[in-house]
Amino acid sequence: MMSARQEAFRAAYRAQIAPAYHGLVHVALIYLIGGATLWYAAQHIHAATLGEIAIIPVVVILANIFEWFLHAQVMHRPRPGLMGIYNRHTLAHHQFFTQDAPFHDTVRDYRIVFFPPYALIAFLVMASVGGLVLAAVWSANAGWFTVCTAAGMYMNYEFFHWCCHVHDDRIVRHLPFVNTIRRHHIAHHNTAIMMNHNMNLTYPFADWLFGTSDLNRRLLGHLFNGYDTRFIRDDLPKVRRPAAMAGE
Ligand SMILES: [Zn+2]
Ligand SMILES: [Zn+2]
Repeated sequence: MMSARQEAFRAAYRAQIAPAYHGLVHVALIYLIGGATLWYAAQHIHAATLGEIAIIPVVVILANIFEWFLHAQVMHRPRPGLMGIYNRHTLAHHQFFTQDAPFHDTVRDYRIVFFPPYALIAFLVMASVGGLVLAAVWSANAGWFTVCTAAGMYMNYEFFHWCCHVHDDRIVRHLPFVNTIRRHHIAHHNTAIMMNHNMNLTYPFADWLFGTSDLNRRLLGHLFNGYDTRFIRDDLPKVRRPAAMAGE
């Protein structure tokens, strides 16, 4: 059930989306920039060694911790100079989507589901600086792998987050990792826990590592939890079971 407050917020938010905005163009732009970067960087990798390939899981883990950190410390905390991110996330995304009504209706709602493309560009610039440093001190292949992996993780993030906010879960409820993050993130949209819990959007690794998950499980259980609600901690502030999840 959607509250009157959420309904009013949605109407006001939708009214201020520019008429020229098109959700599919927004998504196409993200995947075009991300995909082109990944493809371009991959062209530069030649005869990679195992050691250089091993940079991939390292970047995946660092990106996972970065995603957790940014969500917990910037998107949910008013930081001078970064207020736009806080406003867009805590004061808009979390008002538009709540645990009780976490789904979007049309592609115009993509405006509040996906990050603006400049966030991807900023992220790619950061990853490229890391890649350049790696190339300078160790190996060009490792530098290009870093850029490839970062671009892939960003596209992974946006896809998984979209999967969290789609109405129809006939398919996503069966996809490993996707079903896990869907329950994890919809629970994050509970206003009672959103400031401190479930900050990952891809794989709940950093939430498990730093003890900010709403689950009390080991790492593998966390990653493959799916829609399971048996392991939800009972010491959370007024947490409600995700009743909005279809089929529960
Ligand atoms: Zn969300
Ligand atoms: Zn959030």
